[in-house]
Amino acid sequence: MKFDKILQYQKIDQELLALETEVAKSEVRQKFALAKSKLDGATATIGKLKTEANDLLNGYTAMKERIDALKAEIDEFDGILDDVQDVGEAEHYLKLVTAISEKIVALEKEANAASSRIDQVNDAYKKTWEQGVKASEAYNAARTEYNAFVGERQPRVTEIKKQLDALKPDIPEQIMKTYMSLRATKKMPAFVEYDPNKKICGRCYMEVPNDTCAKLRNAGDFAECPNCRGILFVSED
Ligand SMILES: [Zn+2]
Repeated sequence: MKFDKILQYQKIDQELLALETEVAKSEVRQKFALAKSKLDGATATIGKLKTEANDLLNGYTAMKERIDALKAEIDEFDGILDDVQDVGEAEHYLKLVTAISEKIVALEKEANAASSRIDQVNDAYKKTWEQGVKASEAYNAARTEYNAFVGERQPRVTEIKKQLDALKPDIPEQIMKTYMSLRATKKMPAFVEYDPNKKICGRCYMEVPNDTCAKLRNAGDFAECPNCRGILFVSED
């Protein structure tokens, strides 16, 4: 009896698969996933705004320092012009002061723009923070609901898994491996009995090609259906 245990396993496993599908497709699962993505989105936005606010603030502080330094430079010219007799020299100083003043005006303009951008970012931060708090509450509620839904099914899941674990030692490793990979890709049932006289796959109902038929002549033979990838086997009964 090469396949009776895996067939028994497959039959019991169908209920576990059904429970897993029920949970995966449930409304509470979708609500939970949506709440999580909203919370993740708010958290990411908060992080971005925080970085932007920090960068802006650093830029603003640097500009203010530069403005103060330029103002101090202008202050150094105080009194100098009073002592200058030569017109050419006076013009030279005046040009220097004008150039510095223009720099200050430009920097102040830039600093003001940064300041209003900082205000905007702060407003956006506050708003997103409030959304984040709400998203966090919604996430916690959805998680509780989801966990309760899963929890209700847990005793049955545990029971089924115990039955499956008890069967496992009697199933050849290669057959188990094949089964698990088909299960993972949701190709169920994985093992289907094949009648060498009919030459039809019992899973996808396609005609089995000759080279596959050749592998499925005697009791205990098994081969993959080239169409649906299910495992066809010849019963030993
Ligand atoms: Zn098939």
